[in-house]
Amino acid sequence: AAATEAPKWKLNNGLEIPALALGTYLGFDEHGVMTSTNKQLRDTVVSALQLGYRHIDTAAVYQTEAEIGEAIAMCVANGTVKREDVFVTTKLWNTRHGRARVAEALRDSLKKMRLDYVDLYLMHWPVALNEDYSFASIDYLDTWRGLEDVQRLGLARSVGLSNFNRQQVTRVIKEGSVKPAVLQIEAHPQIVQQDLVSYAQSEGLIIMGFSPLGSLVSRFGMEAGGPRVDDPTLVEIAAKYNKTTPQVLLRWLIERKIIPIPKTVKQSRLVENLNIFDFHLTPAEVATISAFDSNKRFTFPSFWQNHPHYPFEKIKNPIRDPFGMK
Ligand code: NDP
Repeated sequence: AAATEAPKWKLNNGLEIPALALGTYLGFDEHGVMTSTNKQLRDTVVSALQLGYRHIDTAAVYQTEAEIGEAIAMCVANGTVKREDVFVTTKLWNTRHGRARVAEALRDSLKKMRLDYVDLYLMHWPVALNEDYSFASIDYLDTWRGLEDVQRLGLARSVGLSNFNRQQVTRVIKEGSVKPAVLQIEAHPQIVQQDLVSYAQSEGLIIMGFSPLGSLVSRFGMEAGGPRVDDPTLVEIAAKYNKTTPQVLLRWLIERKIIPIPKTVKQSRLVENLNIFDFHLTPAEVATISAFDSNKRFTFPSFWQNHPHYPFEKIKNPIRDPFGMK
């Protein structure tokens, strides 16, 4: 099952980022217990690095940093990779906003990962919360200054944003002193967001796309419609290139210059999701897939929608915070 390595794209600070990342959000069940075991994840990351994955996406809140660190340490020890061959992205959680608190939060992540720097540190949300998940009135711009600090300290090579809307990105670009290198947003055929993507790309940001398999895979009680894995339009495009429909969706993101972050804990799918760099989609095929757009998200924490910095459209009946204590 020989795979390949993803190409690298240039960031606006001159550094490079591998154009495919392994997602590591395992999800939690209704009791807050992780749905895959940590050892399974560690072994998945080891396999991924052996296959040629060079970019791992995690976050403090995923509770997977320790396993990723363990896997990287194992692969460095046995010569599979050197530390500098692996691009590690993690994210600041919402309860640790505020300029003076960012370095400590990142140091906690680094300790768990046994690393002395990450390649990319993202502000996970523009929404600041207190420990009890009540709303905190900290401006994301103040928190951004903390991300700039950790870049200056060498704890993060690059810094960026996640789940920011256009206005919020603009404000950080205008008022910050370091330009974000990356914007991570939800990206699949149900949520194309070409205006936000084009805007951020025109400003020199690299886009990372989360939940790239969209409605192809089942999503814990969420029915958003959208194409399934056997969708005739996608099947036809896939057959033309001798690829699978998941591979076609990942390639559709690459054609749009978006870094896909597929998550899997299955060896065969690790190979499948990496093997997207030996074919191209035509502009017409890209447009056909983009036409599935219905501006539907899977990730919209409506329980935060009355927060002054909530980035998305508000909905009529927001759900209760399943993780918050109130
Ligand atoms: P994905 O679109 O990556 O889908 C993951 C699901 O698809 C899993 O159930 C996986 O199952 C299955 N799967 C993976 N590959 C295939 C394949 N080739 N064929 C069929 N099924 C497949 O969704 P996620 O929501 O997990 O997003 C990916 C990553 O993006 C996260 O892990 C995280 O790193 C990041 N993310 C960031 C967010 C943010 O706020 N910044 C929010 C959400 C995600 P199995 O494991 O059993 O193979």
